[in-house]
Amino acid sequence: MTAKPFHVAIVGGGITGLALAISLHKRGVSFTIYEQAAAFGEIGAGVGMHANAVRAMKICDEGLLAGFERVATRNAWASKKDVWFDVLDGTSTEPANIPEKLAPLFILTGHEDGHAACHRARFLEEMVPLLPAGSAQFGKRLVSVTGVEEDGGNPLTLVFEDGTTAQADAVLGCDGIKSRTRAVLVAALNKVDNKDNAIIDKAKPTYSHKFVYRGLIPMVDAVAVLGEERSANAMLWMGPDRHALTFPVNHGQTLNLVAFVTTPEPWPSQDAQQLTLPATRDDALRDFAGFGPNVLGLLGKAAPQMDRWALFDLAEHPLPQFYKGRLCLVGDAAHASTPHHGAGAGMCIEDVAVLAELMGTLKSKEELPIAFAAFDASRRGRDQWLVASSRRSADLYEWRARGRDFAGIADEVRARQAYIWNIDLDKSIARAKEDLTRRLALAMPAAAAPNKSVPFPPDIDFHLRWR
Ligand SMILES: Cc1cc2nc3c(=O)[nH]c(=O)nc-3n(C[C@H](O)[C@H](O)[C@H](O)COP(=O)(O)OP(=O)(O)OC[C@H]3O[C@@H](n4cnc5c(N)ncnc54)[C@H](O)[C@@H]3O)c2cc1C
Repeated sequence: MTAKPFHVAIVGGGITGLALAISLHKRGVSFTIYEQAAAFGEIGAGVGMHANAVRAMKICDEGLLAGFERVATRNAWASKKDVWFDVLDGTSTEPANIPEKLAPLFILTGHEDGHAACHRARFLEEMVPLLPAGSAQFGKRLVSVTGVEEDGGNPLTLVFEDGTTAQADAVLGCDGIKSRTRAVLVAALNKVDNKDNAIIDKAKPTYSHKFVYRGLIPMVDAVAVLGEERSANAMLWMGPDRHALTFPVNHGQTLNLVAFVTTPEPWPSQDAQQLTLPATRDDALRDFAGFGPNVLGLLGKAAPQMDRWALFDLAEHPLPQFYKGRLCLVGDAAHASTPHHGAGAGMCIEDVAVLAELMGTLKSKEELPIAFAAFDASRRGRDQWLVASSRRSADLYEWRARGRDFAGIADEVRARQAYIWNIDLDKSIARAKEDLTRRLALAMPAAAAPNKSVPFPPDIDFHLRWR
């Protein structure tokens, strides 16, 4: 692959930043990753990947996919291979370890590879060796980017908290839900200084009034509560105003427990700067008091100290554009979502596949904004649909949207998941490339290019709740 005549800055080295770096490296794009932390790192929790995400990894880079497969765990039982979740009544007092006594309310299938999950830190460890040596700088907390509004070929300047600066032909903001590049983008789109709080507040994530307890439970303890079948395979436990997910990670040695709570109370930190607060296992047991012995028994096996994680998202503040000039946002920075579809990271990887494929075709740095416009047109509709649909899904699981109409809940959840799982990403990329070619041929300035979102399927879009 011939090296491209431009150098890009990737801000943030989470799943999005690293997947993007690996994918650009494969396509001859040189880059530097600027990460605020002292080293790459992920939280000690599991992450699930749907088939669309796994297919996207293959487009990104075969090594990325191979690394994921080395650490991925799927449902252990052959009979559950194509199952995402068995959906159970979490309030039932019937024992889960006698499956015939606690039958699923419904089963979510249709996923060719079943549910693939991994420990986040293990996945990151697989990605890091795929990066070229010296391509990352640590302790670089981005504060601002200058030059975004200027047309022409001057490099953009990144300014870091430690007083240093760096230059690049484009900046790819992969800095997650608390993104600084989002503030820079929104300021540039509104032609205001990036310290204008009234405008920047409009780009901030808001609290979904849901928080979550997360725990990793040794499989032997999980089996003691749930039995073999319900521990070795993915389960979703529904209940009023709460739900919990359980699925195996670490090649079946550990059960990942994610327990969601809806609350009218505000989160103490309204600007999403503090997403976790200390909590205890007893807090979790109190919050799930209406649930049966299966979920309560599992919570009882969690560590005594359990953090409480707030679920913020961009549902109330969707970005009007993911890019401006040569600044482009990717992953959670652009579309942070609540996790109820289990697809946020998957959408980040889809983003990466599309953007890398577009950037891999470029011949000059002047084409970068046009590629970002094509990326925005290809991705924004689907990404923002996920954010809105994820909120709706939690309300379905927690009997808030359709009460206990389990047949209706099953139908709606299946339709929403099908939209996520069944994307033909190759076709979507081919369309984005045609769009890029058309824009380049017109030599249309990026700012003037029409940005049409991908239309939603008619059976889906009536559920959208934009504000
Ligand atoms: C409870 C929960 C469960 C989830 N479960 C799933 C799941 O099962 N499946 C799924 O697909 N998705 C899931 N998600 C969503 C998924 O975690 C995210 O979509 C994904 O991790 C986003 O990755 P990212 O790299 O875009 O952002 P992040 O992981 O937030 O990474 C951002 C990086 O940027 C760095 N950074 C931030 N600011 C700066 C700055 N100013 N300068 C320099 N560096 C900076 C950070 O240190 C970090 O390394 C879940 C989310 C939550 C909250």
